[in-house]
Amino acid sequence: MIYSEHSTFHSPTPTKVNDPRPELSFVIPALNEVDNIAQTLDDVSAEAKRLNKSFEIVVVDDGSSDGTYERVTELSDLYPIVALRLSRNFGKEQAMFAGLSRSCGRAVVILDADLQEPISTLEDMLERYDSGYEVVYAVRAHRNDENGFKRFLTAGFYRLLTWGSECPIPPDARDYRIMDRRVVDALLSLPERNKFMKGLFSWVGFRSCAVPIELRPRQSGDSKFGLHKLFKLALTGLTAFTDWPLRIWTVVGFAMAGLSMLLSFWIILKTLIWGVDVPGFATITTAIFFLGGLQLMSIGVIGEYLSRVFSEVKQRPGFIIAEEHGSGAD
Ligand code: UDP
Ligand code: MG
Repeated sequence: MIYSEHSTFHSPTPTKVNDPRPELSFVIPALNEVDNIAQTLDDVSAEAKRLNKSFEIVVVDDGSSDGTYERVTELSDLYPIVALRLSRNFGKEQAMFAGLSRSCGRAVVILDADLQEPISTLEDMLERYDSGYEVVYAVRAHRNDENGFKRFLTAGFYRLLTWGSECPIPPDARDYRIMDRRVVDALLSLPERNKFMKGLFSWVGFRSCAVPIELRPRQSGDSKFGLHKLFKLALTGLTAFTDWPLRIWTVVGFAMAGLSMLLSFWIILKTLIWGVDVPGFATITTAIFFLGGLQLMSIGVIGEYLSRVFSEVKQRPGFIIAEEHGSGAD
């Protein structure tokens, strides 16, 4: 939805007198961010204080091996922190979900731990939230910092993802966003384990508005999303939000059957007119390999979906909290 200055919505968070909940919960997933986390906590806290908001900061350590959790607990006297340590690396999607489930603010802000998303945009986002949007999410103003190959893959992925989909998933949306408590509760009520948060954010709906942001370079460390991890996430997204890869094989099957029927008519006709011919060996071999490949491909696609169904059926929790520190109070 496009933001309008003349929005007539009512504020989604009616503030009750003596409501003990903080106005904002910041949820920060962190994997090996020991060199960034102190600065992030300081920036977040300073900005929340400047904006005169009561707040808590939920930091989710997603299986770090560099002492991120210990660093956060050391700082828990300075800020209203809830620190969660997951028992291993469950991935950013699950870490965000763990943070959301532990947050109690009237609105929740999800933020990366690496300071790439300028916290200075929070004021603008809050203004829009106060004007009645239940979700205000950041979108990348551009992808100039990425190479052409990654941009090509990303564009292709979003095209596949939104093809025939019931809810459009904005291509350049970040996880950085403000969500009203109602949106967070809706997300938490979704029981699926294979989580593709960008899809789920769109699926739950609510009045949403995008704010363009300029990403800064990482302060320290490297991106945790290599090509392999992005590919896995893309497969999770595709299997969770599309069914056309399953259905397309019906169309392909009909098309192949139709074509082979035409071919058989042609062969009959050819035999009747020109007599029996020794059939082309190469044609048969190519056809066998082509059809074999097609069948394996379709079985592979079914396998991808089936493996997700399998993991849902097992009903294992998406994450395990090994340790918790702090109550989020000052
Ligand atoms: N992250 C996480 N678990 C993971 C991978 C990443 O909690 O398995 C966190 C990471 O610490 C950071 C955020 O998710 O706070 C975004 O990760 P990153 O900056 O590596 O992604 P990019 O900005 O390159 O997309
Ligand atoms: Mg980053």
